[in-house]
Amino acid sequence: MTQLVAIHGHFYQPPRENPFTGEVPAEQGAEPYHDYNAKITAESYRPNALAGNFDRISFNIGPTLIGWLDRHDHETYRRIQEADRVHRQTCGVGNAIAQPAHHTILPLARRRDKITQIKWGMASFIHRFGRQPRGMWLPEMAVDLVTLEILSRRGLSFTILSEEQVQGEVRGDAGPYRVRLPGGGFFAVFVRDRQLSNQLSFATDQIAAGRDWLADQVRGRQGLTLIATDGETFGHHQRRGVQLLADLLRDEPAAPYEMATLTDYLRTHAPTREIELIERTAWSCSHHLDRWDRGCGCTPGDHSWKPILRSALDLLADEIDAIYLYELRRLFSNPWLLVDQYIDVVLGVADTGLLIRENTSAKLTTGQNLRIGKLVQAQLHRQRMFTSCGWFFEKLDRPEPRYVIAQAACAIHLVRQGTGIDLGPEFREALCAARCGKGKAIPGVPTHTAADLYDEVAAANPLA
Ligand SMILES: [Zn+2]
Repeated sequence: MTQLVAIHGHFYQPPRENPFTGEVPAEQGAEPYHDYNAKITAESYRPNALAGNFDRISFNIGPTLIGWLDRHDHETYRRIQEADRVHRQTCGVGNAIAQPAHHTILPLARRRDKITQIKWGMASFIHRFGRQPRGMWLPEMAVDLVTLEILSRRGLSFTILSEEQVQGEVRGDAGPYRVRLPGGGFFAVFVRDRQLSNQLSFATDQIAAGRDWLADQVRGRQGLTLIATDGETFGHHQRRGVQLLADLLRDEPAAPYEMATLTDYLRTHAPTREIELIERTAWSCSHHLDRWDRGCGCTPGDHSWKPILRSALDLLADEIDAIYLYELRRLFSNPWLLVDQYIDVVLGVADTGLLIRENTSAKLTTGQNLRIGKLVQAQLHRQRMFTSCGWFFEKLDRPEPRYVIAQAACAIHLVRQGTGIDLGPEFREALCAARCGKGKAIPGVPTHTAADLYDEVAAANPLA
């Protein structure tokens, strides 16, 4: 019997643009390229697209990344779109799936943010691929039932989890399985093989002949085997990854296994076996969601800055929302709908002024229009403050935490422009206790804190 294998690639980069200028700054370590987006495109996205690898894998590509590719490497962008279109022509379904807009850890986000992230991710997908998505990748595979319930209500039907995140009738194959939703009904889940996925991601050097290795691994298995990993594994993290992936995907007569894609497989294999989620878990950390919240042993050293940064941003988000609702509730029957639709402005297919007018029957003055425009734009940066990269690594003084602080500074700036209210001092105070490299302080030299990082953003962007 021929074994079936699916490989899913999660392709993602955070939006590296300075939120004040819209430009990606030159990044240290990316040389000879200007920044990491350019470097990873040259090493992974472009060669994988040229090799035809997107045609035969399942994949999701972060909305911020695919937007960057559209602007900076249009040919690669076009090939990725084309891969989905050809798959749709051949199989009746595309092989791309959607992703929430900003790689937010959804179980840590409040319900309102979950909805916005999911709606924005779906709108971005429709804009890029010209069709409704069927599945959605969850950032870090971080999952809870509320998130699945919202995905289901938005018309999505499946996601991907890792085997350690589920329990019950898991029989070693990828499923699809079904998870019972609290409000009734089921949601489909494909379960990846953790060991195989990790071997392909982190032990590529030990895999001499890719096809023989995979054939050995899946021999005698029943059903579908799923390998799911970061797409950047292929070419960026692992130099020979592009060729290895092309080799694994190659179609040939009498092959020891056949490749499948998740959407195509789901078409003919309705989930019947039920499993349970282990809620508030993720694929890259075994400590539930601590890595992005209170910190955990996956990032050695002092991680006391993590919960402080998160609570400072939560507080700021509360304040931004309170101002937003105070300003808009009198004029808009559903102020959040305006936020959800603002993704069309980000995608360049709508105009802020028109969108505002469409959402209210009130006759707004030019001043009101401008004010509301600033507040809804602030909501974009307030969403971007929670991109998971900010908490992923061990050090506060890295580009990723600086990045979320810069988004916060930009949101603060827009609120101030719109209303005259300055949320900066309170936010800055909340950051003071988050120290970089605690314990290494030199006597007489002030300890560097997240508040200093905020000041640096403000100094570099005088508007802030
Ligand atoms: Zn951990």
